[in-house]
Amino acid sequence: MADTRYPQSYYAASANPVPARPALQGQVETDVCIIGAGYTGLSSALFLLENGFKVTVLEAAKVGFGASGRNGGQIVNSYSRDIDVIERTVGARQAQLLGEMAFEGGRIIRERIATYGIDCDLKDGGVFAALTPKQMAHLEAQKRLWERYGHTQLELMDQSRIRQVVACDNYLGGMLDMSGGHIHPLNLALGEAAAVESLGGVIYEQSPAIRIERGASPVVHTPQGSIRSKFIIVAGNAYLGNLVPELAAKSMPCGTQVITTEPLGEELARSLLPQDYCVEDCNYLLDYYRLTQDKRLIFGGGVVYGARDPQNIEAIIRPKMLKAFPQLKNVKIDYAWTGNFLLTLSRLPQVGRIGDNIYYSQGCSGHGVTYTHLAGKVLAEALRGQAERFDAFAGLPHYPFPGGQLLRVPFSALGAWYYSLRDRLGF
Ligand SMILES: Cc1cc2nc3c(=O)[nH]c(=O)nc-3n(C[C@H](O)[C@H](O)[C@H](O)COP(=O)(O)OP(=O)(O)OC[C@H]3O[C@@H](n4cnc5c(N)ncnc54)[C@H](O)[C@@H]3O)c2cc1C
Repeated sequence: MADTRYPQSYYAASANPVPARPALQGQVETDVCIIGAGYTGLSSALFLLENGFKVTVLEAAKVGFGASGRNGGQIVNSYSRDIDVIERTVGARQAQLLGEMAFEGGRIIRERIATYGIDCDLKDGGVFAALTPKQMAHLEAQKRLWERYGHTQLELMDQSRIRQVVACDNYLGGMLDMSGGHIHPLNLALGEAAAVESLGGVIYEQSPAIRIERGASPVVHTPQGSIRSKFIIVAGNAYLGNLVPELAAKSMPCGTQVITTEPLGEELARSLLPQDYCVEDCNYLLDYYRLTQDKRLIFGGGVVYGARDPQNIEAIIRPKMLKAFPQLKNVKIDYAWTGNFLLTLSRLPQVGRIGDNIYYSQGCSGHGVTYTHLAGKVLAEALRGQAERFDAFAGLPHYPFPGGQLLRVPFSALGAWYYSLRDRLGF
């Protein structure tokens, strides 16, 4: 049987207290059955409850067990591929809608935190750091692009300016987004789950959906019970497995690893990141880091295609951390863990309906903290019959990975190797 405990992460160790939630027993009827209690499932649940739906959430493990409780905690605007790629892929109206939505997820997170009083260490300010002239030119273009869609609060930084916000000598410059920022991701998920319950929603933990009986009022089966509903929202993302075979072919679970140092102390922490912004670099296989509330450095990076759990995470990530901050060479690592995100070939979210009543959103491919919050809103709109924004996502084309189930992992690793070589050589 799969291990359904939280990984031994800094987040699990510093989680706010939560109630024990039962497993589903027997038969239940509801308006919407949501599969998965990560941000996608919880955000959908909240928007639906706020609009009068009866909602029941099934979680195979615990709230925030997946990527939502393990991630870098960085509120990054837009999607894993930017709006310029979308503009080249789809028609003008669809691109306009998707572009306007690209900055909504961060606002939703802040609204949720304020409305429901969620204690999750919110800090404003995120930095994109450029390692090469090509990356700097890309950030300049990105700023112009984002401003075209009404996103302000952006500042381009040259080498001396970025050195004032990050004590790393590797960067040529960067871009500061003051509507980016960071949160304690598991505490955000736990706070959202409490908000769901405060509105009358029900969450069952240790309750994996093992079969969906499709039809006019579909039924989701768990080992000890079942839920009949008007609608199903599939929000299991990289942990879904093969429950919905149509979805598995066009997405691939990938692992990424995170380490957390011992507390650094106020002075050392402030010397690294004086304004407490979070940082990600612009490489294809990017490094991302930030401070925690108790002044540890959380540092993540790397991708394991196919999501095999690596043996020694510290050995993989610590050298990356020391490359950015050699001044941390004597600092101890207290936590190391891995988590899975879901990659699509286009790196754009995979959204749609199966029949009339099974909806899904998954595959945001690395950057998902903001998108998943937006997804909940857009899914809820669609269930209320206002599907224009949902359809803008659902119309994004998706393709199977080259090599099929068998060869997609080596093919993708080869692709990533090529892109990281380009990053290293600066072209
Ligand atoms: C290590 C790591 C670092 C990351 N860092 C960042 C970051 O800093 N910024 C950013 O924007 N994005 C980041 N991401 C991506 C981001 O965390 C995800 O895109 C986002 O959390 C996905 O949310 P989700 O709700 O769709 O999926 P998940 O959070 O994975 O939730 C899916 C849930 O569904 C449950 N489930 C699956 N199958 C079933 C089933 N059959 N029955 C019942 N329940 C089921 C799982 O147990 C899980 O709890 C990171 C991801 C990882 C893994």
